[in-house]
This record gives sequence, C-alpha cells and structure tokens, in this order.
Amino acid sequence: MTRIMVCGMGGTIAMTTTAGGGVAPALTTRELTAAIPGLAALGVDLGLVDVCNEPSSSLRLADVIALSRTVARLLAEGADGIVVTQGTDSLEECAYLLDLLHDGPQPVVVTGAMRNPALAGPDGPANLLAAVTVAASPAARGRGVLVAFADEVHAAARVRKAHSVRVTAFASAAGGPVGQLVEGVVHFAAPPPGRFVVPRGERVPRVPVVVAALGEEAPEVPADAEGLVVAAFGAGHLPRWWVEPLAAAASRIPVVLASRTLAGPVLSATYAYPGSEKDLLARELVPAGLLNPWKARILLVATLVAGADRDQVAAAFAAAGGLGEPGRWPWPPARPL
Ligand code: ASP
Repeated sequence: MTRIMVCGMGGTIAMTTTAGGGVAPALTTRELTAAIPGLAALGVDLGLVDVCNEPSSSLRLADVIALSRTVARLLAEGADGIVVTQGTDSLEECAYLLDLLHDGPQPVVVTGAMRNPALAGPDGPANLLAAVTVAASPAARGRGVLVAFADEVHAAARVRKAHSVRVTAFASAAGGPVGQLVEGVVHFAAPPPGRFVVPRGERVPRVPVVVAALGEEAPEVPADAEGLVVAAFGAGHLPRWWVEPLAAAASRIPVVLASRTLAGPVLSATYAYPGSEKDLLARELVPAGLLNPWKARILLVATLVAGADRDQVAAAFAAAGGLGEPGRWPWPPARPL
C-alpha cells in the first residue's frame, strides 16, 4: 500500500470560527482528513503529523527548514510521498524553499484552501484529495515539490498566489501549470524537468526585498543583511539615484535584480542608461532570470544557508533562473528516480 504522510502547518484549510467572530487555525490533520469524499477509495495508507497550526503569514524561514528536515525523515522512514497543508499567503515561498531542500525522488505536494471550512463550498477537502492523489502517483516522482490547487498542479519554482480571494488563486506565469487532475487522475504535460537542490544548513540569513516605486528614494540596506533582492521596474530598471547605493551594497553582499512585474525575466543586454539592467549588472548585481522577487529571495537564502559565495550565487541564479544555463548549478544533482 502506498504510504502518504500529511503534515499540517495551519492556514485557512485548518481554520474554524473563533468566539469573537472570524476564523483562526485550529483543526488537526485528523479533522482535516475526516470525511473527505473519495479519500478512503484512493486506497492510500495515510499517516498524520501535526507540525504547527499557524497562519502562513507568521511562518518563519526556520519553520520551513525544520519542516524540510521532517519531510526528509518521514521519507527515510519509508513514506512514498508527502502532503503539506498550510496557509496560502506564503505558500509560494514555503513550497519553493522545500523544493530546493528536497533531494529525493518522492513527491512532496503542498496545498491549502481559499474558502475556510465555515463557508459554503470550502475548497480544502477537494484540494487535499487532489494533493494526496498527486503524492501517491508514480507520475509525480522526480518532480520535486509540487503545489496542487483547484485541480491544477504547479511547479514550486514558478507558482504564485495571483488572486487574494478566488479559489483559483494559484497560477504559474512561465508556462502555466505542469499538470492537471481529471476524473481523479493526475496528468503531466511533460516529463520531469531537471532539478536544483541545495544542501540544508542551520543558519537563517537576513535577506530583505526592496521594491522600486515611482520617484522613491534609494533604500537603506540593513547592516545585518547578508543578501538583498531588488524588485525593479520592468525588465530590471531602477531610478538612477539607486545605482550607487546598490553598487556599494553589491560590493559587500550578493544583490539580486528581479522584476516587480507579474511575469517575465530581467534582461541583460538591451537598455544602457543609468539604472538600466546593463548598468546594474555591470555593477555586480546578479540577474534573477525568470524568478520573481519572492522566489529570488528564497533561492538567495537557500544558497547563503549552503555557504555560497557571490560567484556560486550568480551560478545558481544562472541555472535556476530558467534562462538556460543549468550546467552552472554549483551543487550535485538531486537523487535520481
Ligand atoms: N491567511 C491565510 C494563511 O495564509 C490564508 C489562507 O490560508 O488561504 O494562513
């Protein structure tokens, strides 16, 4: 029998009404998995682990690194796949960090809910059923961490929360979902892609994201920041008065240039004015490729946790940024199928 472990982290999927009105996390994984139509019929041996019960806006990087250790332990103990239930607010970041730290071929599938259990038509049970289905599917092996939501399957490196309230809140800008569920079966559009895995470490470095805004002054870079992500205009452009402060920061710590737009890469060789991507990259900023600022921050954190220097950070972004230099990934490949 396929053994799937469900790790509960909290979020709307696990919320109930509070005495003062509104909802807050409270339900256990046993309550979450009770009475989901079709779950027992999957014939999966389900194990339950209540890790925490937090709104995902209060999860810390250390919580996700600890969860990745739990996932690795459960897989080493014989689980065939893992489902993580959590809040959707930071799900795109949690899933990507878990993905970078997951070196096994077993599926790890993250899900949650947009409608809480106190509302008509909560989506948690359907999403959890879909996540268990994907985690138990041999077709999901070798794909790292996936996100199952509204009967779509997304790659952790690309998915983002694209709507604040709809049940179809998750989208993948570059290429769309990697799979979908039809009549309870998961179908993937392509074979498993290459994977990028980072060794797990102990420390959690501080890596702020600063966002460009019309006419805004250059940001102060905190003295204890070990890296910085800049969410720039368009294809990687900043006010000209940001250039010197960021160049000074880039001489001390890795500074990654990402786009604040909803999709698309930063460029490297098109615009040539002060504050353009050519100017910024010449001053040692690292291009994020297709990674949005929040994904770029997660990759930068993971590389710094693994002890990367600036050249290794740049190589990691060249590879995982998705613009075609996978051979530059500085660490060994993930374990094969
Ligand atoms: N605020 C909730 C959370 O992220 C939203 C959700 O789960 O959908 O914990």
